[in-house]
Amino acid sequence: MAVPKRKTSPSRRNMRRSHHALKPVLAVECSNCGELKLPHHVCPACGFYDGREVLAQPEA
Ligand SMILES: [Zn+2]
Repeated sequence: MAVPKRKTSPSRRNMRRSHHALKPVLAVECSNCGELKLPHHVCPACGFYDGREVLAQPEA
């Protein structure tokens, strides 16, 4: 089995992990109801996308 010749130094290890940080979750306000939603997604609160209702709402 292939095995590393040298132990990974703390510096190398940390350089590798420099890309591992979590990004904050993106959120924009729905232009119809003002709820926070993901950009370019149908609003889960009101079912609107691009100014029109694309998902039927159970209570409405
Ligand atoms: Zn909405």
